[in-house]
Amino acid sequence: MRRAIFPGSFDPITLGHYDIIKRGVKLFDEVVVAIGVNSEKKYMFDLEVRKQFIEEAFKKEPKVKVVTYEGLTVDFCKEIDAQFILRGLRNPADFEFEKAIAHTNRKLSKIETVFLLTAARTSFISSSIVRDVIRNKGDYKVLVPKSVNLNSL
Ligand code: ADP
Repeated sequence: MRRAIFPGSFDPITLGHYDIIKRGVKLFDEVVVAIGVNSEKKYMFDLEVRKQFIEEAFKKEPKVKVVTYEGLTVDFCKEIDAQFILRGLRNPADFEFEKAIAHTNRKLSKIETVFLLTAARTSFISSSIVRDVIRNKGDYKVLVPKSVNLNSL
């Protein structure tokens, strides 16, 4: 079974993440969306809410699982027997950052990182921009899957 994890904060999930997960499903038998818990970080959405948004968005996709984890991503990969880490690349800044992490992960383990270039139409979207739009009462719905509905909270 070819299992990949797609790690991130997903605070909240955006159409950019959605696109990468959808395309990942075509490459792997299972895509585990893994929400990393970092106690030093302040989040806009609680862990359970972030998880619900993703689960709801992929409720019709049995190959997508959503979990939370703490600690090193490579350790978590070993724990759930994932051979691949899936990441999205938006721009050169993402590339430089991801390169260092992927090299480190290869030093620590045998796990391969697979990069997908973002779709052009969602490449400008980031969770931090979405949070800014939400804080300032803008129309965040054009940037996120339908499951991210603040009225349902
Ligand atoms: P992190 O806290 O690791 O930055 P994010 O939730 O922001 O977590 O991102 C998780 C993954 O999703 C990363 O690989 C990131 O490059 C990718 N990603 C973020 N935004 C987009 C986007 N608009 N299109 C495609 N991939 C994206």
